[in-house]
Amino acid sequence: MTNLGLYIHTPFCKQKCNYCDFYSFAAKEGDRDSYTVRVTDYLKKWGVRLARPIDSLYLGGGTPTLLGGENIRKIIRAAEDAFPFANPEITLECNPADDLKETLTTAKKAGVNRLSVGVQSGNADELLMLGRRHTTEDAKKTVALARECGIDNISLDLMIGLPDGNIDKLSRSIDFVCSLYPTHISVYILKIEEGTPFYKNGVIVPCDEEIEKQYLFTVETLESKGFLQYEISNFAKAGFESRHNKKYWNCEEYLGIGPAAHSFINGKRFYYPRDFKEFMDGCEIVPDGKGGDSDEYIMLRLRLSDGIIFEEYEKRYGTFPSDKIKKAETLAKHGLIKIDNKGLSLTKKGFLLSNSVIGEFI
Ligand code: SF4
Repeated sequence: MTNLGLYIHTPFCKQKCNYCDFYSFAAKEGDRDSYTVRVTDYLKKWGVRLARPIDSLYLGGGTPTLLGGENIRKIIRAAEDAFPFANPEITLECNPADDLKETLTTAKKAGVNRLSVGVQSGNADELLMLGRRHTTEDAKKTVALARECGIDNISLDLMIGLPDGNIDKLSRSIDFVCSLYPTHISVYILKIEEGTPFYKNGVIVPCDEEIEKQYLFTVETLESKGFLQYEISNFAKAGFESRHNKKYWNCEEYLGIGPAAHSFINGKRFYYPRDFKEFMDGCEIVPDGKGGDSDEYIMLRLRLSDGIIFEEYEKRYGTFPSDKIKKAETLAKHGLIKIDNKGLSLTKKGFLLSNSVIGEFI
């Protein structure tokens, strides 16, 4: 029986950031407690249905810390009652704008061993422009508080490609993030998503050349500071790669609970509707087709620095197709793919153009 990843989506945020299209909204009185009860009901149901060990639990959102420490404790205990715990990595996302003392203290006692902090930028003007509720001082305090509570495994989010951004500002942000001594950094290129305030206001991001410059600068700088790039957008000190997120890229199985949460189990993909009321009313999952075929595996694995290892591919799908080797060789001539007798992976330039390279490849 292989281990499963478990994701719990908490759809609450005090206010929407200007770029965000995740499913989240301001909770009403009583929502936090009733949502917790509902999540624990679903956990019980799924535990009976799947009975698989859990080696990663990710409390994401939204802003899961808005549930408060006691509700987070209840969810972790319900997960442990429903699924055997196999020494899981338990990650909690947080917004550094909030007063987190009680929440982090209780969460740590309940088993949280990794914190993901939405820092995004080290520049005050950029935080304002993004509509973040926090300051750089809040980010510093949150990281210090996490350590006081005994949570040392800390991941920070950083955004690049911001409107009016440039290498100087980015360099300050990277220095700021690194000055907090995280174990892991996730780097997101800002995209203007339909329906967001940025989209409505016609906000423009820098041109492709500038984004390319910023991305490569970020990769180089983080690597020079000892963060190994293990995925297109993710960097970690040795041994601190995100176990949970690697499940997605390794095409391994995970269960997502919460409105808009996706799952992949027994070759099938499915999700809960993006609707809080439906979720609270005890809705059914929505099928989302088959998953885990060889093309999907290739697409996901190419996001990782390790890329595709032929021996591992063979165990799942048989010999790696020769037509794909030929395509890889052509892409290698353009400096987008590296290939040898053990496997193939994207180069840094290939990472930057990953959507089109992977599209071309499969
Ligand atoms: S805190 Fe996170 S989930 Fe909430 S609106 Fe901002 S970016 Fe979106």
